Amino acid sequence: MKNSTIIMSGNKGSRKINFGSGPAALPEEVLHQASEAVVDYNHTGLSILEIPHRGKLFLDILEESKALVRELCELDDQFEVLWLHGGGRLQFCMVPANFLGENDVAGYIDSGHWSQEAMNYAAYYGRSEALCSSRDVRYTALPTFPKKIPDDLAYVHITTNNTIYGTQWHRLPDVKVPLVADMSSDIFSIGRDYKNLSLFYAVAQKNVGAAGTTLVVLRKEMLKRVKRDLPPMLDYRAQVAKASVLNTPPVFAIYTCLLMLRWTKKKTLAVLEQESIDKSCLLYDALDQSNIFHPVVAQPEYRSRMNVCFRANNSEIEKGFSDFCSQQNITGLEGHRTVGGFRVSLYNAISREDVQQLVSAMDTFEKNIVL
Ligand SMILES: *Cc1c(COP(=O)(O)O)cnc(C)c1O
Repeated sequence: MKNSTIIMSGNKGSRKINFGSGPAALPEEVLHQASEAVVDYNHTGLSILEIPHRGKLFLDILEESKALVRELCELDDQFEVLWLHGGGRLQFCMVPANFLGENDVAGYIDSGHWSQEAMNYAAYYGRSEALCSSRDVRYTALPTFPKKIPDDLAYVHITTNNTIYGTQWHRLPDVKVPLVADMSSDIFSIGRDYKNLSLFYAVAQKNVGAAGTTLVVLRKEMLKRVKRDLPPMLDYRAQVAKASVLNTPPVFAIYTCLLMLRWTKKKTLAVLEQESIDKSCLLYDALDQSNIFHPVVAQPEYRSRMNVCFRANNSEIEKGFSDFCSQQNITGLEGHRTVGGFRVSLYNAISREDVQQLVSAMDTFEKNIVL
């Protein structure tokens, strides 16, 4: 790893273990490559921040990134890959804007805050209906899929991993209508049949790269289902026609995604999934055995491998453990404000050793506090 001094000069060795939920940790290798490109992109004498977005340098980046997404997800040419602005929320908006007519109904699987937000956006365009919900248990479990889903729905929307509550669908439902998935916090970490989806999206700042762009993949056939005239920026047809360069794209964010995709391919999805299982088991086992910490999601079949939420017996212990972790250079553990306690995000860039350090810190802390 040459030029490692670029980002590490002055604080070598003090890089923190970052369990933040997003923007999240990236592999050091990717950080080094990204930082080199900021100074001099591929020996071109230009910074990645300066290259033209319609020139060959960037078009090559776009093409390689899209090809890698296709390869990783095993998609054929029936699918379009886009990098769009606006984060997850703009997809909450674009999906119904494009596919939900005024008199149509879309079905939403309500497994948490992000599902609800997505459903709220749909109401601007047509009718949205919760097909099932685990709101009554404060989203600490997953709802049960309804046995029968009406086949006249415009689409069904699912959030595959509930980042805030730490629950995850390990299997996706079979539905006859187009299935749309928000995969923001678990893409590339769990075996999925991406081909069975009509559209899926993932914000970059969790498993894909850097904040500022969102990966959107959709079946070409969906473009025929667009229900209304829309300004081009909001219209999937226009975005596809202009191949993600309808306006100036976030070049650096997309380049960081390319670096992360190369890293992901090198690791392989199979290895990443196995690591994800190992890392999450290590932490859940420690929580299940602890006398002071408790996982928020009790049933193992609902537990997320990506975001592990837990509480301590009381707020004093929580404060003490937070401080203890800060001293150990472990950061990003705060739970979402609606859940409280702790949330440990185990995205792909987190190593088993990182989790082992946290588990050791929990153990040392527990042994040393007076209950
Ligand atoms: C983080 C996250 C989002 C939010 O993305 P923004 O880019 O902040 O709009 C949406 N959905 C899920 C599942 C997330 O984890």
